[in-house]
Amino acid sequence: MAPIQDGYQRGFSIEYVFLVVYCMTIYVYTGLPATGKTSTLIKTMRERENAGGKVELFLSSEHEELTRRPNVKPGGLMGCRVPGLNFRIDHVCSTKEAVKLLKDSAPGTLVVFDEAQYYKPGIVDAWCSASARGLDVLVGTPSADQLRILQKTEYQREHMEVDCRCGKRSATHVIYENGMVYPVHLCEPCYEESVNSAISELLRDVREASPFPGDLHTYQPFYKIEMEGWELVRDDSPARLEIILHAASRSGKVRKLLDDPVAQPSYMDLGCCSGFFADGMASHGYRSTGVDVDRNFIDWGNRLSMIKGQSIRYQQSDAHQFITETTDEYDVTSTFATVQWIMTQKGYATGIECLRALFQRTRHVAVVEMGYTTEDIYRDRIQDAPVIDKDWVLKMMQESGEFASIEVHPAGENGIWRDVYVGFREVPTSSPFCGLPFNDDMVFQVSTAMGYWEDSWLATTFEVWLTASRDLSRLTFEGWRPGQAADVQIQLNGDTLAEMNRVSGLFNSEFPISIAVGTTFRLSVGTSQAIRVEGDERALALVLRTIKFSER
Ligand SMILES: [Zn+2]
Repeated sequence: MAPIQDGYQRGFSIEYVFLVVYCMTIYVYTGLPATGKTSTLIKTMRERENAGGKVELFLSSEHEELTRRPNVKPGGLMGCRVPGLNFRIDHVCSTKEAVKLLKDSAPGTLVVFDEAQYYKPGIVDAWCSASARGLDVLVGTPSADQLRILQKTEYQREHMEVDCRCGKRSATHVIYENGMVYPVHLCEPCYEESVNSAISELLRDVREASPFPGDLHTYQPFYKIEMEGWELVRDDSPARLEIILHAASRSGKVRKLLDDPVAQPSYMDLGCCSGFFADGMASHGYRSTGVDVDRNFIDWGNRLSMIKGQSIRYQQSDAHQFITETTDEYDVTSTFATVQWIMTQKGYATGIECLRALFQRTRHVAVVEMGYTTEDIYRDRIQDAPVIDKDWVLKMMQESGEFASIEVHPAGENGIWRDVYVGFREVPTSSPFCGLPFNDDMVFQVSTAMGYWEDSWLATTFEVWLTASRDLSRLTFEGWRPGQAADVQIQLNGDTLAEMNRVSGLFNSEFPISIAVGTTFRLSVGTSQAIRVEGDERALALVLRTIKFSER
């Protein structure tokens, strides 16, 4: 027989495949994408069927990467890069279904699993049993876990190699260049050179584009790209990414998806700018989608995802239109300082509609940052809007009824610019906030305590967000103010609960409150004058002895 005419592959022939298939009944193909694995499988299947043999082709139904392709259905055709070379797909099924189907297949059948990495590792035992019963098993692109399990059995493996385009070395990387349908194979040095030049070109275009043409100045950094000397409007992006990652990892359902060998949690950033968060989440195992109305941002995000070989879906779209029209759901979502812009352009009601739709399209965790109307840039720019501030966002999220638990990361925490709100559809598995003296069975802390130190000192501005575990009717507040007297103001959700004038020495006060079980609220304590202590840089206000809530 003549060798396969495939320019991408070396030293490999149909004769060899058949020899091996008939001797060793599990045969595995590994190698970079587009090295001829699928075309080899198809040729083998065709040969077997032409010789009167029975063939069954399996593809996984457990990952969107396959199921979103319209041809991936029973009776659809699996193609490859060789025009006209394709084969009928028999089964698009889960690992469990595939295991059962294999048991029912007759000895002598050639069973083929392409893109096998989208099956769970448990499939390997079924391959082994099938082979023991006299079936021939062909596997394309197994996962590392599957290969590890295969080691305990006898199987044959063919690692497909292609040359780098420089012709000097074997390729170790595959990249998709802009506008190219087929990938390019590169060796290590060529890959590095190509990545560096693509990144320089990208940064040059960013420099020339609005909103700061000619300057090393843009909104967001790019995730894990060296941008020394650049001025970034949002230099708090890494801190905000940490908030999303940490919150998502505390959702039991997202955790389960992250730990699954095949499934992946999905993430969508509404108003994604140039894709820092979409990229950061993709790098942590999420299937990312980024939506932004700005063509440049989407272009830059797309270019970088191609350079990095990621599969991120960037969509240039009006955020309100996208989120109200899509039927897709996402495990984790975020929207950073986008909805107030929608309000300035399309009105207050449109912004609300946008947030509501976002919450409904979120399966587990939604992360929200809003620009406030108390900021100069948005003041008087949103028609018909009430004051949009901390309490507005909290109330909006609570009243949506979509969240079992809401947490707040106040502005300033790890350098974040604005308050970041996290809504959990299901109660998270743990709380990242603890250690305050008033964490008891009446309330639990749902934000960092800003202005509280472990030695019980409060700063002149102290703030913490709490959720009531019971119906609360009374607050007891005890403290110690050494030295000069000062005025102390206690606020609940921005409303003054009590003003204590000329507080000095030990003090103890009780106030009636009315907070229903499950309500998240903001407690703040402001003190009019700081105490300066030698050798201590802090602006001290008072020593907190007790904050105690009592039940109705
Ligand atoms: Zn090379």
